[in-house]
Amino acid sequence: MDDFYREYILEHYKYPRNRGTLEHPTISHEETNFLCGDTVRLDILVENEVIQDIRFSGQGCAISMASASMLTEEIKGRSVEEAKAFSKEELLDLIGIPLDKNPMRLKCALLSLKTLKAGLYGVGAMQDEEL
Ligand code: ZN
Repeated sequence: MDDFYREYILEHYKYPRNRGTLEHPTISHEETNFLCGDTVRLDILVENEVIQDIRFSGQGCAISMASASMLTEEIKGRSVEEAKAFSKEELLDLIGIPLDKNPMRLKCALLSLKTLKAGLYGVGAMQDEEL
């Protein structure tokens, strides 16, 4: 992995944005990536169809946690429709590493997006292919 990107991921891992929980979330959803043992929970506050606040909690590898940090930072303040349309390609661009050659890492990276979309759509679970 390129050093620059590794630093960027570790920086988000060490100093995560929006880490924590919300007292009265509109939506709260948790997903686990059993391949790696990552768990991400998102608390989302929706007002007027806009994501006013979002926090993540859980634990896992650096990529899963950095991904959750980056995603919450990106999605906060967007409309629910925009968030639903946020693609896995956009998320992978944010994280900045080519994950297409490593399916294990891809699952780690996409866990936060999977949690977000399953929460917003109100469904129990989502497959990677549906993201
Ligand atoms: Zn992982």
